Amino acid sequence: MKKSLHVFLLALLISISPAQAIAEKGRVAIAVHGGAGTMKPSRATPELERAYREALTVALKTGYAVLESGGSGLDAAVATIRVMEDSPLFNAARGAVFNSSGGNEFDAIIMDGDTLDAGAVAAIKGVRNPIELARLVLERSPHVLLVGESAQEWGREQGIEFQDPEYFYTERRWKSLEAARERARQSGIEFDPFPTQENKTQDKEAAKDFDPSGRFGTVGVVVLDRSGRLTAATSTGGLTNKRWGRVGDTPIIGAGTYADSRTCAVSGTGHGEYFMRYMVAYDICAEMKYQGRSIQVAAESVVMDKLKSAGGNGGVIAMDAQGNIAMVFNTPGMYRGYIDIEGKLFTGIYAGE
Ligand code: ASP
Repeated sequence: MKKSLHVFLLALLISISPAQAIAEKGRVAIAVHGGAGTMKPSRATPELERAYREALTVALKTGYAVLESGGSGLDAAVATIRVMEDSPLFNAARGAVFNSSGGNEFDAIIMDGDTLDAGAVAAIKGVRNPIELARLVLERSPHVLLVGESAQEWGREQGIEFQDPEYFYTERRWKSLEAARERARQSGIEFDPFPTQENKTQDKEAAKDFDPSGRFGTVGVVVLDRSGRLTAATSTGGLTNKRWGRVGDTPIIGAGTYADSRTCAVSGTGHGEYFMRYMVAYDICAEMKYQGRSIQVAAESVVMDKLKSAGGNGGVIAMDAQGNIAMVFNTPGMYRGYIDIEGKLFTGIYAGE
């Protein structure tokens, strides 16, 4: 009796190879953000709000389709970010904010949670899809992070697509630069992307009264693919009126982006100088790893406690190895959305949604 049970179990084990077992059981999930920031008196028309929700939905469905068809996390993350980089709504590539010299400079990164390998680019100009260049750095270069003209030249050699400055011009981002310059003139503070008086409330009603043209828009994605791999990717134009050559948290491993398939994948958005100093993305994974915390508790601890008390504004999307999703921000809003392991779709803009 006992022996026949052993034989049966052995036969079962042999008939299901580990790869098959994962593929059969593997469920997929995706979460995106389109930036976090502060609110100020309303120019948020229902049309614009709808446009953002639609853009988030298209991005989510694009990545999810790749995952569902068995595509890798890298393929899904790049496909998702591309959609957002090509949209003038988000502060990444096409809709990027302007720096202090009136130009656009982009930072982007992709990180593979299985290998802990990453590719990143920083302070680059003219590249239509910075996330594609970041992926090439991961796959074809011995380096992790390439910057500025060197990265652009290398991208040209790899056949990456470039666009003229007009492609990256949007009127509302230009107006944001003019407003930021004016604020700087009046306050005497050279660079103050999140003035404190604008960021006092996370009240739901007050949060509806916001200006979506300002500092919102960095894009990020975290995914769980069928093989159980977590991947994170982020792309940004940085912060309005930043000094040219300034690099934020986005392309810095562990600061704005991190992925480790054993713990979590994180993509952040907000005041990058703080995300760098507090190693936000890695700290969330570290709290899970060393303190045994859930993704939600770890993300809240880092964003709502450590980061906030330091004066750092922003938020994160994060996903654990089971596909659980946390979307935590200490600003009044964050464009965000997910399709979870049950296939449920959600998009949100304000706190409390
Ligand atoms: N974190 C980005 C940066 O500091 C900006 C953002 O997320 O909006 O460059």
